[in-house]
Amino acid sequence: MPSKPNFIDAVAGFGVTFKAMFQKPITEEYPEKPGPTATHYHGRHQLNRYEDGLEKCIGCELCAWACPADAIFVEGADNTEAERFSPGERYGRVYQINYLRCIGCGLCIEACPTRALTMTNDYEMADDNRSDLIYGKDKLLAPLQPDMTPPPHGMAEGSTDEDYYRGNVTADGLATPREPVL
Ligand code: SF4
Ligand code: SF4
Repeated sequence: MPSKPNFIDAVAGFGVTFKAMFQKPITEEYPEKPGPTATHYHGRHQLNRYEDGLEKCIGCELCAWACPADAIFVEGADNTEAERFSPGERYGRVYQINYLRCIGCGLCIEACPTRALTMTNDYEMADDNRSDLIYGKDKLLAPLQPDMTPPPHGMAEGSTDEDYYRGNVTADGLATPREPVL
């Protein structure tokens, strides 16, 4: 049997509408005025550099193994003394993230042992074709700052890869030289 219409419930519904009429609108004018993101928003990735411009990525593929969406492809290669892109033995020769697959979970940045990979607040990555949504190093590498030297180049004089990992190398060279081993 149908229930009787409840007059109070009907009026209460209009009450919600009436209250909303006097609240400040929260409409965002996108794309004319993109709003701010949450502080820890997971946007486009970035491959970071050390202060002298060398790349932090060592091509270890841990990020690719951690990715649940199989969105990352890494191909590492050996640094040589003639052509060095990162401290230590290896660097990421090919690095790709497929943003058609990425779900923004951030597991890749947790897995990275050198903090080479982080995520920015940039979310404007829409495109009209599949291939442009596979980002390579050209789009992911952090821009060179004015005091950085573009790789390939040697490590700071007297430094080891550990000095880089410990943050002892600045754009001017080894900041805190290690004690000599006696
Ligand atoms: S954010 Fe998640 S889905 Fe996207 S590349 Fe990283 S691990 Fe994969
Ligand atoms: S981004 Fe980090 S985890 Fe991924 S290959 Fe480079 S160093 Fe390894």
